[in-house]
Amino acid sequence: MTTSCHHPPAHLVDKDKVSINPRLLHNTDQKKEDRRKMLAGERPAGCEYCWKIEDMGSDAVSDRVYKSKIYPIEALDEAFETPATTDVSLRTLEIAFDRTCQFACSYCNPAFSSTWVNDIRKNGPYNGLVSDGRNHFTHTHDTSQLYKFGETNPYVEAFFRWWESDLHRTLQELRITGGEPLMSGETWKLIDWFKHNPGRSQTRLAINSNLGTAVDIDRLLDSIAGLEIDLYTSNESMGLQAEYIRDGLVWDDWANNVERLLDSGKFRTVHVMNTINALCLYSLDQFLECIMNWKIEYGRDAVSFTLNILRFPSFQSPLVLPDELRTIFRKRLEVWLDAWWDSEFLHEHEVNHVQRLIDYLDIVKTPHSEAFDRPKLLNDFKQFYTQYDQRRGKCFSLAFPALTPWYDTL
Ligand code: SF4
Repeated sequence: MTTSCHHPPAHLVDKDKVSINPRLLHNTDQKKEDRRKMLAGERPAGCEYCWKIEDMGSDAVSDRVYKSKIYPIEALDEAFETPATTDVSLRTLEIAFDRTCQFACSYCNPAFSSTWVNDIRKNGPYNGLVSDGRNHFTHTHDTSQLYKFGETNPYVEAFFRWWESDLHRTLQELRITGGEPLMSGETWKLIDWFKHNPGRSQTRLAINSNLGTAVDIDRLLDSIAGLEIDLYTSNESMGLQAEYIRDGLVWDDWANNVERLLDSGKFRTVHVMNTINALCLYSLDQFLECIMNWKIEYGRDAVSFTLNILRFPSFQSPLVLPDELRTIFRKRLEVWLDAWWDSEFLHEHEVNHVQRLIDYLDIVKTPHSEAFDRPKLLNDFKQFYTQYDQRRGKCFSLAFPALTPWYDTL
């Protein structure tokens, strides 16, 4: 599957065509038609998210503007002047070779995690969900992985042919994601390519990893000698709360692995991506404190963080929380930001992300929209976590005692 950003739905790539021309992994007929429409001033339907923002008024800046800003104006001019039918070279690429993952995080689903697939195979679909995203928890999403291990995968073969012919020269950044990419043989094949071809590619390599217990940190540190790598890892809460939200994570192992990467000095930056959901707010301020301690020990740029507000599944959004809890969590973040906003260890974008979240949690600034179907979301919140507890051997009230009086009323 391919998509040009995370908003339009992904579409299937033609495997017979990529066997002949690997550039068609990206340059699909659909993308060429979308380009033709954009060049003619029309609006491809898949980009609806940005059109809606832009229709809000001239001050509303859509994601396509932010995403285009990373390119120099000459590159944007070149894109504008290139015929829609051209098989263009890529400058940035994020790729997932497969969905192998030893975690089954609550906000993930079987399309991205083989452990989530095992949950659905063993226990069947999650029942009683009624909000918009319910189908993600009812089946194993087999179209997300068409080939079994050991089978020849024509898409992966096409990628490596394209990599050898042009991509290693044209790509400015290659980011490998998953599943857990460090459990995929293809990721190690690519890391080995860099190791055995020093100086042949200027592409910046970035790897996403959950840094869980099973990730082979020794092998990673051994294999990347001489390479400059950015490592992205996800987490957004402390200890027991993190282990509840990100099923499979062992807090001490995750924190030790982060420290091992920082101690090694082999990574340009370790980026901690926080997926802001209803449950993480419980200990988010302590988690940010933990990141600040790493910054103070290892340097401002050695570790950085982003706060990305979860939009899907919407029943796990912070907006499902009652106003009084949102207010408590907002105030904790205000206290945190008051203490740190002028610290030399914080990047401007980090201050902005915390402030943006404070605004988002402000019940005056972000009232529940009419489209926000609260009863359905509350139903799904209770249904989902009740079944999650049974399937995963967890206990909501043990992990989140302060949320339990509200949870018990649902
Ligand atoms: S670590 Fe990533 S891919 Fe794995 S279950 Fe969690 S969110 Fe999904």
